[in-house]
Amino acid sequence: MLGELRSIVQQVNESPDLGVALETIVRRVKHAMSVSVCSVYLFDPDTKRYVLMATNGLKRKAVRNVSLSRNEGLVGLVATREEPINIEAADAHPAFQYIPETGEERFSSFLGVPIIHHRRVLGVLVVQQRVKRRFDENEEAFLITLSAQLAGVIAHAESTGDLRRLTANDSENQEIEYHGLPGAPGVAIGNVVVISPLADLYASSAVKARGVKLELETFHSAVERARSHIREMERSLSAHISDQERLLFTAYVQMLDDHNLGKEVLERIREGVSAQSAWSEVILQHCKHFEAMDDPYLRERAVDIRDLGKRVLSYMQETEERELEVPDQAVLVGEDLSPDILGSIDRDKLVGLVSAKGSVNSHLSILARAMGIPTVVGVEGLKASRLRGEKVIVDGYRGYMYVNATDEHIEHFLNVQVEDKALNAELEVLRDEPAVTADNHRYRLLVNTGLMADVQMSIERGAEGVGLFRSEVPFFMRQRFPTEEEQRQYYRELLEAFSPRPVVMRTLDIGGDKALPYFPIQEANPFLGWRGIRITLDHPELFLAQVRAMLKASLDLDNLAILLPMISGVPELESALTLIRRAFSELTEEEGYDLVMPSLGAMIEVPSAVFLAREFAKRVDFLSVGSNDLTQYILAVDRNNPRVVDLYDAMHPAVLGAMNHVVKCAHAEGKVAGVCGEIAGDPLGAMLLVAMGYDTLSMNASNLLRVKALLRQLNLSDLKPLLRDVLHSSDSDLVRQKVSAFITAPELRRLAQMGDGVKTHH
Ligand code: PEP
Ligand code: MG
Repeated sequence: MLGELRSIVQQVNESPDLGVALETIVRRVKHAMSVSVCSVYLFDPDTKRYVLMATNGLKRKAVRNVSLSRNEGLVGLVATREEPINIEAADAHPAFQYIPETGEERFSSFLGVPIIHHRRVLGVLVVQQRVKRRFDENEEAFLITLSAQLAGVIAHAESTGDLRRLTANDSENQEIEYHGLPGAPGVAIGNVVVISPLADLYASSAVKARGVKLELETFHSAVERARSHIREMERSLSAHISDQERLLFTAYVQMLDDHNLGKEVLERIREGVSAQSAWSEVILQHCKHFEAMDDPYLRERAVDIRDLGKRVLSYMQETEERELEVPDQAVLVGEDLSPDILGSIDRDKLVGLVSAKGSVNSHLSILARAMGIPTVVGVEGLKASRLRGEKVIVDGYRGYMYVNATDEHIEHFLNVQVEDKALNAELEVLRDEPAVTADNHRYRLLVNTGLMADVQMSIERGAEGVGLFRSEVPFFMRQRFPTEEEQRQYYRELLEAFSPRPVVMRTLDIGGDKALPYFPIQEANPFLGWRGIRITLDHPELFLAQVRAMLKASLDLDNLAILLPMISGVPELESALTLIRRAFSELTEEEGYDLVMPSLGAMIEVPSAVFLAREFAKRVDFLSVGSNDLTQYILAVDRNNPRVVDLYDAMHPAVLGAMNHVVKCAHAEGKVAGVCGEIAGDPLGAMLLVAMGYDTLSMNASNLLRVKALLRQLNLSDLKPLLRDVLHSSDSDLVRQKVSAFITAPELRRLAQMGDGVKTHH
């Protein structure tokens, strides 16, 4: 049955839409389990009933016409109990409900399992048998396994609107609402530009042909390169492999020739299809064919074909040099948009971003917030290529995207845009006002930045300096490590733009989810691996070049501070400080630079650093809490994983307790303490951090004036008791409730983005 299970799962996953997937399930399960009926009931949120959506064995006309509430029938019982129900004589069970439209009176035994995704019962999968019998354990396990798989497919259909279309039985033009996470606030209305990763076989189907001759040339030269690559590999491995294994290489080369895969591709190109599309289609078709085979060895060959397919495709793309034609009002949509895309597109044309992967704290979101681009991330199951050219609404406040939006929605979001503009204009007057509480307690508001593009906005918003310059960002946008001189020029521009305001430059923080295209790191647990300072201490040549560039850039400006990321122990901190001091003395004593030693700081972003904060504070001038990483490490929740996003909250009492401890350690040593993670830019979070006594809050520029406006109207003397109270709360929901209940005036609630108004309607 295992083979059967795999094959069903695969066929279901490859179905073009949910309707086909459900039909496949009921047909194949009925056959595989030799039962008389298999049916799927799905929950309809509008009617709150379980609707029969597909059946093989019951009367077909019952589909969509029969439904049960949670309190009705055995189906309702499976849903309420959230566990399988297996009975021999269904009609004798007290919960049994006779529905004449289905004709089910003829079936005696019943096995129903709930379809559950992320704790929600999405539906019920049922098999029935004419003869009286009890389904055995194996059959039950088989159905449970299938149902878990089906849950993923249904959840996907839910987020793409497929489910709604199916239950509403409606036309193509219905509004589709995609649900994701709010990556960066704001609303955008624009046109989709699909960003596909290179060598993505699925994304190449729409590449336009540029004439048969040119496409044939592209194809032949890519195939030729692939052939010589394979031969090269074979040669270099020849001493180590057997004749049998060598045959594999020969098979590869043969696959490429004009009688095999090549033949079909050439035919399609001659029909006017582009080389990339033709090749991708043929490869995917062959993969499907192999994957559906029962023989495990042959099934595995699909992987080889896919690899070969990607290689040839990447050769075709290299010769073509992708050029991105971006229209005005562009919304970039992709399966996994990476932060570097922001550097290669004209900012004036870009209005929104939507990515299937990523999370609120992924670097794409952080940069989008810094640049003020409304963004939705973590849209599970988003099929970007289907949306090419569509007009969409991006709701970065709630993390939704609308395709084919209704007139009502368009009007609503146009209003939100007008409101946002008005609020920003209103806040502008605070630009040069000091960051103080109503009872005159002073703190500093700084910005987080990574790109020169957001400097202007930061200064316009009245930033008192840069609290975190993520120096890895300019590293992303190159094909190799930048030289010391290239770095110096970049850093100089930034220091000059902000001078005399201070700029905290963090040394290279790569690893984790931040990979440089030219320095790939493959690890099983990247967030617990070679990251941040661990990499740069292992590569002092990179670290020294960067620190030297920063120091030289600060000549005569003297507004530089250097911050060290991911410090987890004192020896690490001391090694990094020693290298900085060495670079400084080389420059001043040997190379004649007249420099001022910048202030030096350590980030507190792993739990060990919290416990060692006092030791760190003795050795540096300031501590800066990276609450994004600190939250993920204290709570053991991957900051990029949408599945556990509900568990990720920097307002968790454990994280707040850690931050409260850190500020005390810094002050006990007479040192400055700041926060540069996202919590600092959350108006509710900022209230607590000021109450803890943090001297600086560093945040994305778009939130700065909002935070300032709110804090200027609150008293530190009131915030302190609030802090004491929340530190004793049991969970983050309670913390948020308490902090938001503290703000009652509608005007202040609007600033705290708890809009009782238009943004949270419906
Ligand atoms: C943090 O971890 O909070 C931080 C500011 O650094 P990054 O988000 O760049 O990892
Ligand atoms: Mg960090």
